[in-house]
Order: sequence, then C-alpha cells, then structure tokens
Amino acid sequence: MPDPSPSPTQAAGFLTIDLGALADNWRALSRRVSPARCAAVIKANAYGIGIEAAAPALAGAGCDTFFVAHPREGARARAALGAGPRIYVLNGLQASSDPRGDYRDHGLTPVIGSLDELARWSALAHAGSAPIPTAIHIDTGMNRLGLSFFAGANELRAAMADHHAGRLAIDLVMSHFVAAEEPDNALNALQIERFTDARALIGDGLASLCNSSGIFLPQKPFLDLVRPGYALYGGNPTPGQPNPMKPVVTLRALIQQARVVEAGESVGYNARWTARRRSRLAIILLGYADGLPRTASGDDRWRGADVIIAGRRCPLLGTVSMDLTVADITDLPEEAVQAGMSAEFLGSTISVDELAERSGVSGYTILTGLGARFRRRAVGADGTVTEA
Ligand SMILES: *Cc1c(COP(=O)(O)O)cnc(C)c1O
Repeated sequence: MPDPSPSPTQAAGFLTIDLGALADNWRALSRRVSPARCAAVIKANAYGIGIEAAAPALAGAGCDTFFVAHPREGARARAALGAGPRIYVLNGLQASSDPRGDYRDHGLTPVIGSLDELARWSALAHAGSAPIPTAIHIDTGMNRLGLSFFAGANELRAAMADHHAGRLAIDLVMSHFVAAEEPDNALNALQIERFTDARALIGDGLASLCNSSGIFLPQKPFLDLVRPGYALYGGNPTPGQPNPMKPVVTLRALIQQARVVEAGESVGYNARWTARRRSRLAIILLGYADGLPRTASGDDRWRGADVIIAGRRCPLLGTVSMDLTVADITDLPEEAVQAGMSAEFLGSTISVDELAERSGVSGYTILTGLGARFRRRAVGADGTVTEA
C-alpha cells in the first residue's frame, strides 16, 4: 500500500522539540524537591509536544512516574515507555470505561475521584486476589474531582474501609492546587492545611500536592511526590519572575511572500489594521488552525505578538487567518526578507509565556494547541534528530 502520509518536506510549519532541555528541566525540578520524588505530567499529548517523544526522554532522565488525563493517553504512554513506570490516569475511572480492558491491560492506575468510582474499582478486586494499585484524589478546594474534604471523614473512611478489606493497595494520595502560580493567594496555605488533615485519615501511599508552580511556593509543600507538567515543557512556573526553566519548543513557519502595501490600505479580514505608512509585509504560512491564537495579531490600536524574521522582532498585524498570518517587516533592511525564509514564533527569544501574554491567553493554551500540520522533529541530548 502506498504511504498516505505527506512528505515532511511538504510542511510549512516546523516544530522542533529539544529533548535535552526537557530532560534538563525534569532534572532541575527533581533536584529542587529532593528527597521528594519528581513525576511528569504528560497529558494532552505531553502538552502538545508529543507523548511518544517526551515520555521516553523523561524516563531516560530518571522519571519513573507519569500522569495522563485519559486511559487512551495512558495506553499510548505505556506503548512508548514499556513495562515498569507507573502511569496514573488523573481524570479517574470513566463511567463508560471497561476497567479491565482500559486500565488493567495497559497497567494504568486510575486516580479515584468519587465514591462511585471507588465502588466500581474495588469491585474489580475479587476475593483472594492481590489488592489493586489505587490512587486517591482528595478535593481540597478545586471542587472538580476528588473525594470531598467537606463530606469530611466519611468519604475518606470509605476508601480506607476498602483498603483495609484488602481490596485496594493505596499507593498515592493526592490533591491539586487552585492557584499555585499566585504565591500570595491564601488558598495555597488553606489547601496545604486541608490536605494535611486528610492525610491523617489516609496515611497510606505517597502524598502529592504540587504541580509546576506548587514546586516554587514558599511553603515548599513537596511531600513525597511532585507532579509538574507546564514547567517541564519550558513554561514559566513563576509568572512575573524570570523563568527558571529552559525552552523546549521552537516553532518556525515559512514566509510565502514579501509584499508592499500603500499607506491607507488595510490588511486581512475585517480590515482591522490599516497601514499608516507605505509598509512591507511578510505573509507567513501559519494560522489559527495551527494553534496561533486569533488574538495574537495587532490592529490599529494594539501591537500584536512578535515573530523573529532575519534576526529581528517584527509585530504581527491584521486578523490571523486560518492558514496565514502577516508580519510587519517595514523596519528591516530592504531585501532582508525573501520567500522561503522562515519566521520564528517560539524559541529562545520568544517564549511560550510571551506569545501567550501578547495574545491574551494562557501558555498552557499555546502549548496544547500546537497544530497537527507541523513537521515535528525531536532533537536528542546528543544532537540526534528524529522525526516525531
Ligand atoms: C495538569 C495537572 C498537573 C500539572 O500541572 P502543571 O501546572 O502543568 O504543572 C498536576 N496535577 C493535576 C491533577 C493536573 O491536572
């Protein structure tokens, strides 16, 4: 059968993943929390990076515990990682899922988030069989998933009853911060206190509370295990402060044309940007279908996000189209830009956090929205390049 996949040379957007930087970021967080252990959150296709590239690189750095959101992602992670590493499914036991097929066949552990899930999961362990590995999520304030702290001891004791009946081997008890990226938010201390209280009722397994930003809270609530995602992929876990992490993602797209507009002419849908002077423009082969927010571009009142062209920052202008976007190259030397050159949207100069801020979205949205049309290349710590 002919290979239906397009040749990589046909791509217009190029995503490069620095697996060495990813591994370095994991090691840096790991050192920071030691002697607590450091896991890796690889949900949403490893925040858009690619599970198949990211998971083995993290395992190679020493990570042996992974978190995904869905059992399908867990199965992909298991295929990429092989037997050994623990893989937890954060969203818990889905009502529609077949626990045996979805979880046990791939060696996945659900993070149990309600009494109903607890009952269905513990029913799997039959008399005489070994207790099944289980993680328990305790809701300390997100009011999303987790056994309710406010239902008090009752829900937590139910988990312990199954545990003591020999059905469950509780190996992880966790909760999740509401606003860890705001170190002054009083919710952080409240959640730490509630989790400590809950821990007095469920003492088994490892205790885990921190996401990326939690690792940088002044309270240092590392407990036994931390669960970073965003920071591993280069996101800044300390907004407003210098980013302690290394950039992992470089995103470039080809320039299709350089052209001139006369003063008074508008550019793009709905004529949101009008040239105040004769301007030179670069038309770039990347649009909102590739994950660039429509709000990344500038209009008559607002300067858009920058891209790097010929080594210089150039602002985006006019409404971002589905497959195209436009940058102002008027201030670059004449002839500096030709068709076939590339514009850099993310990299060592423009961070995920900068593009996010200039677009009015979160960096998590930028990463998890990275498009499916890119040619993806992963560069290993030793410089080897693989198509990802
Ligand atoms: C997504 C997620 C994390 C990781 O959060 P980051 O802010 O990306 O580090 C950790 N724990 C839970 C429960 C999550 O849903």
